[in-house]
Amino acid sequence: MKSRTKVVVIGGGIAGCSTLYHLTQEGWSDVVLVERNELTSGTTWHSAAQVTNFGMNQTMVGLKSHSIKLYQELAADPDYPINYHHGDGGIRLANTEAQMQGYRHFASMARGMGVEFEILDAAECARRHPLITKDRLLGGLWDGQDGDIDPAQLCQALARRARNVGAEVYRNTPVTALTQHKDDTWRVHTEHGDIDCDIVVNACGYRVNEVGAMMGVHHPVASMEHQYFLTEPIKAITDFGKRVPLLRCPIDDFYSRQEKQGLLVGFYEQGCKTWGLDGIDPNFVNALCPDDLERILPVLENVFKRMPVLQEVGIHTVVNGPITYTIDGAPLVGPIPGKRNAFCIIGLRAGLGEGGGHGWLLAQQIVHGEACYDTWVIDPRRFSGHANVELTALKAIEDYQNEFRFHFPHEHRPAGRPAKTTPLTPILDALGAEFTVVNGWERMDYVKPSPDFHPSLSFNFDEAFELVAAEVRNLAENVGLTEVNGFNRIEITGADRHSFLDRMFCGAVSKREGRVGLGYLLNDYGMIKGEATVANLPASDRGPARVWYGSAAASEFHDMDWLTKHLRPDEDVQLRSLTNDYTILVLAGPKARAVLSACTRGNWSAVAFPWLSVRECFIGYAPAVVMGISFSGELAYEIHVPNASLYAAWLALRKAGEAHGLKLFGARAVESMRMEKGFLHWKADLLTEFDPFETGLARFVKLDKGDFIGKAALVKRQAEGQRRQLVTLKIAARHAPTRGGASLMHEGAVVGTVTSADWGHRTGLNLAYAYVQPAFCNIGTKVILDMYGDLIAAEVITPSPYDPSFSRMRS
Ligand SMILES: Cc1cc2nc3c(=O)[nH]c(=O)nc-3n(C[C@H](O)[C@H](O)[C@H](O)COP(=O)(O)OP(=O)(O)OC[C@H]3O[C@@H](n4cnc5c(N)ncnc54)[C@H](O)[C@@H]3O)c2cc1C
Repeated sequence: MKSRTKVVVIGGGIAGCSTLYHLTQEGWSDVVLVERNELTSGTTWHSAAQVTNFGMNQTMVGLKSHSIKLYQELAADPDYPINYHHGDGGIRLANTEAQMQGYRHFASMARGMGVEFEILDAAECARRHPLITKDRLLGGLWDGQDGDIDPAQLCQALARRARNVGAEVYRNTPVTALTQHKDDTWRVHTEHGDIDCDIVVNACGYRVNEVGAMMGVHHPVASMEHQYFLTEPIKAITDFGKRVPLLRCPIDDFYSRQEKQGLLVGFYEQGCKTWGLDGIDPNFVNALCPDDLERILPVLENVFKRMPVLQEVGIHTVVNGPITYTIDGAPLVGPIPGKRNAFCIIGLRAGLGEGGGHGWLLAQQIVHGEACYDTWVIDPRRFSGHANVELTALKAIEDYQNEFRFHFPHEHRPAGRPAKTTPLTPILDALGAEFTVVNGWERMDYVKPSPDFHPSLSFNFDEAFELVAAEVRNLAENVGLTEVNGFNRIEITGADRHSFLDRMFCGAVSKREGRVGLGYLLNDYGMIKGEATVANLPASDRGPARVWYGSAAASEFHDMDWLTKHLRPDEDVQLRSLTNDYTILVLAGPKARAVLSACTRGNWSAVAFPWLSVRECFIGYAPAVVMGISFSGELAYEIHVPNASLYAAWLALRKAGEAHGLKLFGARAVESMRMEKGFLHWKADLLTEFDPFETGLARFVKLDKGDFIGKAALVKRQAEGQRRQLVTLKIAARHAPTRGGASLMHEGAVVGTVTSADWGHRTGLNLAYAYVQPAFCNIGTKVILDMYGDLIAAEVITPSPYDPSFSRMRS
């Protein structure tokens, strides 16, 4: 066994084997995999091993396409062929028009990744699958790439290829401890000796938190028991003459695929069970949980209606095994929060289908620091402190119960809520707020007219449309107030804070005390990594001269990680998170100044406190930091208040607002207004797949300012010419917004992809942002939008269609 290597991958299921193989593909062959037992002896060996191309976003579709391509290549390898039933085809069923609309969106989204799904009616579903009835069936989505693979052969093939180019695999070698050296490299302690390495990867399946504990972290992953059975041969299958397609059924909570001449049928029962929360028997190896068919009886009744043949056929094997779920259902693939040189590929609940792609994206991140797609949807840093074991278990149960039911727009399921609140949450609740969830925070979405107001789950504009319109109208005419909780805030002190930030941002960073600037952080490839405001607070009785770095609520761990990673040991810079200590109250609208003046001392005139100013003050007697920043396009103030004083500040603002028509507004109103202003959202529109020029942010780039992270790459990219351009579109439809991922077409070819969309209540425009090919970026260019299967006219318009001169927010 080696005593030193570059990377130690812990765990020899599909996650570990795929990572090891792809590390070698990225050029690193001095890499090692250690497995406590035999390869695939965790969950992988007993997987149903279905491999689909269907995904909820383009990153997932892209990584699944990679799996399929790789598995096809492995299956065709004459040296070590493996069993892969590729292209049996699969149907996701639906019994509501809303589900069908969702499928049409996912088909439009996948087309942008070169993947074609078909939308079928009920008759066509039944024609393609000989065993199903049309009972309660409206139609489905057809994935022609669907199939299944032999999991053990797949892992052996990947490990074999990795070994062939120098990687080593140590079986029966349990990792017992992990020690991090002072230089952030690792020592992996195993039962057979220690291995020093630069980087460790946790790929330990349901034992993820045993290995997590060895490095002092808890991962938001919980296991569920999951069952399928295998039937005796079915004559109709033999008679069909070809393999029957796979089925995934959100109506009756089951899936099935052909296994020999019978079926494999798996279930997602409501009375489901978590597994291993209180520890896992060390001898649970190549093992299963006891059969528990009782648990699936309630589901079985409907499954029999869908596939009557199952009532007549015998069951010869039951498989009940642990399957991992994360707190939001998507895997955790990337850097481990709070650790250096440590990565994970965990929480895979469809790991056979996805594993090839996840290992590919993880290896790219490890070797190059970034992957070819923006990987935020699978980034382990996407949730911060609240993601504990109890909450994860609740969300895992909820997700399991809804396995094939995708989330609708604005759908936030109830388990584990509220997780993160402020002193205002119960107050807003009592005032009728409907909440949306942002990184666990309950954030006001809009104010309901009555407690029993529940808009329908739909991709169309819902019943809250007019309520949001009214919130926007009052804000534009008078003044509105909302709470923005969870906003990421890092206090940066030290003599070198400005030179540090200068290096981090691609544009000019304001150093003037009392001023706020907006800037962008790039990665080493010149692509957008982050967006933040930089507010320069002068020294006062509240602290020394300091910068408040502010960014999106979800970026709490991500941004701290990025900033601390780039701190130099000789730099006098200190970073302190204030995210959980303060909350923002946003006061916006033409009468905002009057309200602020009525509850504070000081001069708030446009001359004394112009747009992009920052000042410490008191709201009534509540200490606050006020910034002249607007995300709505109206005159607006961000009022940052310590949580202990939040209610006091709220009362003072509400009272002062009475005379000025102050009303509440929520996140939906903000979304509508920011679309009208050309303002972008991190990880919706601001992605690592585009540079700042492509994102339309040239005014925030200063190439002549000296070196900054990503500069050399950006200059090179600029010389090579733009590949995409972010544009604003108006869409010729009134019934629905489009959605991120939808494809823009020209003469039958995809020419762009939507990133954000909403109705602009002040402009009366149905708006979207999209990245398009350069030939389609000029104002007035007309394209066709595939919006839920309908081909709708869309036109490129000038960004910021509301108040294009920005005079209102500067007033
Ligand atoms: C019944 C069932 C049906 C499924 N059907 C499908 C399906 O149809 N399609 C699909 O895509 N997915 C399916 N899945 C999910 C899929 O099987 C898993 O996502 C996948 O196998 C997880 O692989 P993994 O490598 O993450 O974990 P595992 O396969 O559990 O591998 C983890 C490995 O880490 C090792 N390990 C743990 N601790 C240590 C340590 N301390 N030192 C060294 N090694 C260690 C373990 O021994 C194990 O081999 C199914 C799962 C179940 C339970």
